[in-house]
Amino acid sequence: MSMTVIERKNVKIEDKWKIEDLFSDISQWEKEYEMCEKLIPELMEYKGRLSSSNMLDIFEKDEIIGRSVERLYVYANMKSHEDMGDNFYQGLCKKADSIIVKYNEACAFIEPEILGLDEEDVLKASEGTVYRHFIENLLRNKAHILDTKGEEMLAGIYELTSAADDIFSMINDADMTFEPIVDGKGNERPLTHGKYQSYLESSDRVLRKNAFKSYYKSFYALKNTIAAVYSSGVRKDIVISRLRNYSSCIESFLYGDNIPVDVYKNLIETVNKNLHLLKRYISLRKKRLGVDKLHFYDLYTPIVDNINVKTSFEEACKKVVDALEPLGEEYINVLKKGMSEGWIDKYENKGKRSGAYSWGAYGTHPYVLMNYDGNINSMFTLAHEMGHAMHSYYTWREQPFVYGSYTIFVAEVASTVNEALLMEYLLSVTEDKKYRAYLINYYMEQFRGTLFRQTMFAEFELTVHEMAEKGVPLTFESMTEIYRQLNIKYFGDDIVIDDEICYEWMRIPHFYTAFYVYQYATGYSCAVALADRIINKNGADDYIGFLKSGCSDYSISLLRKAGVDISTAEPIENAMKVFEGLLNKMESL
Ligand SMILES: [Zn+2]
Repeated sequence: MSMTVIERKNVKIEDKWKIEDLFSDISQWEKEYEMCEKLIPELMEYKGRLSSSNMLDIFEKDEIIGRSVERLYVYANMKSHEDMGDNFYQGLCKKADSIIVKYNEACAFIEPEILGLDEEDVLKASEGTVYRHFIENLLRNKAHILDTKGEEMLAGIYELTSAADDIFSMINDADMTFEPIVDGKGNERPLTHGKYQSYLESSDRVLRKNAFKSYYKSFYALKNTIAAVYSSGVRKDIVISRLRNYSSCIESFLYGDNIPVDVYKNLIETVNKNLHLLKRYISLRKKRLGVDKLHFYDLYTPIVDNINVKTSFEEACKKVVDALEPLGEEYINVLKKGMSEGWIDKYENKGKRSGAYSWGAYGTHPYVLMNYDGNINSMFTLAHEMGHAMHSYYTWREQPFVYGSYTIFVAEVASTVNEALLMEYLLSVTEDKKYRAYLINYYMEQFRGTLFRQTMFAEFELTVHEMAEKGVPLTFESMTEIYRQLNIKYFGDDIVIDDEICYEWMRIPHFYTAFYVYQYATGYSCAVALADRIINKNGADDYIGFLKSGCSDYSISLLRKAGVDISTAEPIENAMKVFEGLLNKMESL
């Protein structure tokens, strides 16, 4: 691997994604753009006269434009990600944004007008067509739509509903500053949001402790402001859920994806039953670090030696292919094709967007952006993103455009299944003790960060919303006490519950999108359980069926067909067993 970062124009063709599969050149893009500009006003001609008899015509027109607009948008953005410094493609992105806005404005009338039609007629019109599930799903909302005057009033205050989120962003991203800190060698270091996490991962305990103290000091200084902002957000959730005739806040947030409230409560209950495993992990960490007292600032520093194994991109592909063998011949053939025929933009170049993602537009093949650097994490990223890409590949191949995406509830399943399969594979073929310890630690940290931590967040949100629904005021003191009790319950006696950690709820931006983070924990549990089922119980065919389904059914039903029922404790218990197995391995190393 070379150390110098090269210019985009010098990247070898075989290392680049074949973006020309979206548009062969810019003139094709311009042509499609002009076509969209002509077609969008035609959609508007139906406004105010949508009926069950012309509904399907509109859907057809909408699909043609929707697909084009998506391709325009994806192409412009992917091109700009190749080199963020390229002004031409930044301009193209703005042009793509404007067509998206026009398109969204033009079709904004469709769903409300359908909801205003006679339910029987609409159902009849969609019978036997691909739109049946789409219509059924849309009609579910009828019970929670107000009369015209009510909807107008809500639309009028719509902007205000994001006030808590907006104000918190301003506090957190713009106004908040941190006192500089001193590391173990006595050097002063600046503290920022970006640097905080890397300081906590440092092996310098003085640096970790000082970063922790200084970070929370800034939040504490604004304790009453942040409590008031968060509390107003919770009260907004309550007001809107009541206006829309939901029996609770949580029901209103889970309704959109048709997730029963029991799924949420079942997650919390099952994780609670297994907290002894998290506590065992904490004891192990304390022992490995050799500290008298373990603090929360000791939670992110590695307890295993760093290993310096470099794997070339080609080798990593080979390992991922071998690891995913249980998914069957067809999956493997497509995967290999994707790896060698221009799905992936492999390496860093000057100006390229950082990180990794899988993306693309319906009707073509998926794409993966990588900044592959040869580390083990990079190999897992490859498996992860190809998981998303294969999910899109199968869905686009098998589903009509209307179901060509997937819900957030299932979005991380395919990627995490691939990571879990890669992990199991590497553990089965690796004998080197240090390498094994590294892998197990990596996997256990995922469980801690995704399954345990996000569930604790979910429990906090539920407790706070239920309190407010009963009319109990939310103050800095009351919320901090709830958070303290949760930390005691989750982490046990082997860790010191410093005051600072009890303020952690003040710094979580996700809390401003209520009842959202639990999906990380449910998705993770499902994926780990599915990987286990694929390896040990011939679960591959059911799972491929899930990959082919897009959003053609409700998330819970899709997962049930794949072989996991997340409305029961089973997948979570199953994931916990995998975690326990890792603990056993780590304790004996
Ligand atoms: Zn992902």
